[in-house]
Amino acid sequence: MLCHLPYAEVPISSAEDFSRSYEITIGMAERGNAETEVKVFACVGPYPVLLLGLAERYGLSRAVEIMKGGMEGAQKLVREGKAVAIGEIGRPHFPVPPDIWDASNEIMRYGMELAKEASCPVVLHTESSDPAVMLDLASHADRAGISRDKVVKHYSPPLVLNEENHGLFPSVLASRTSVREALSKGDRFVLETDFLDEPSRPGAVMNINTVPKRTKALIASGELTEERAFRIHMDNPERIYGISID
Ligand SMILES: [Zn+2]
Repeated sequence: MLCHLPYAEVPISSAEDFSRSYEITIGMAERGNAETEVKVFACVGPYPVLLLGLAERYGLSRAVEIMKGGMEGAQKLVREGKAVAIGEIGRPHFPVPPDIWDASNEIMRYGMELAKEASCPVVLHTESSDPAVMLDLASHADRAGISRDKVVKHYSPPLVLNEENHGLFPSVLASRTSVREALSKGDRFVLETDFLDEPSRPGAVMNINTVPKRTKALIASGELTEERAFRIHMDNPERIYGISID
C-alpha cells in the first residue's frame, strides 16, 4: 500500500492542488507496477495536518472546504480505479485547539461518507490510539454510515481484540513486540512499517522490508504458521481493500 503524503513541491491552496499532488502518488504506484514485480496499491487523501496551515492562511471555514474538496478528488481516483482507499485522513497526531479538532472530525466524517459511497475503506491517521480513541473513531464511522470494518487505523498498537478496537481494523506497526502481542490475540490485523522514504530520515519509521523480514523470522522460529501469515498478509487486505493480491 502506497499512502499519499503532502509533497513540498505541490503547495496546497485549493482542492485542485490536492488532485495534482495525488497524481504524483498514483504515478509512483503505476511505475512500481510497471517496472517491478511488486504489486502496488495507492491510497490518497488530504493529510489531516494540512488543515492547520490552510486555516491560518484562509480562515477555518475555507480551509474545511479545501480539505473536503481534497476528499472529493480522492474519491474520484478511487472510482476511476487508480486508488483503492481514501487516506491518510483523520486528525492531527498532536493536541490542537477545539475548533481545529471539531473541524478535523467533520472533515474525517465527510471522507468516510465519500468512501462509503465509493465502497472503499478509509485509512486513518490520528492521535495515538487506545481503546477509548478507537471507540470515539468508531462513533464517527457510525455517524458517517461506513462499516467499522472499512476503517483502517494506521499506526495502531496491537489492539486486536474487539473490545480494544471496537470493530475498526488495526494496521499494526511491525515491531517485534507488537507483532508478538498481536499474534497472541488473533489474526484480525494487518502490518505496516509507516516507511517514509524521506532522505533526511533514512529507514524511518521502519525500513520498508520489515514486514516480510519479520514474517519470515516468525515462521522460521515456529511462532507463526504459514496459514496465519496468509490470513494476515493476503486475506485481510484483500477483504478490506477489495483487491486481489495473487
Ligand atoms: Zn500517518
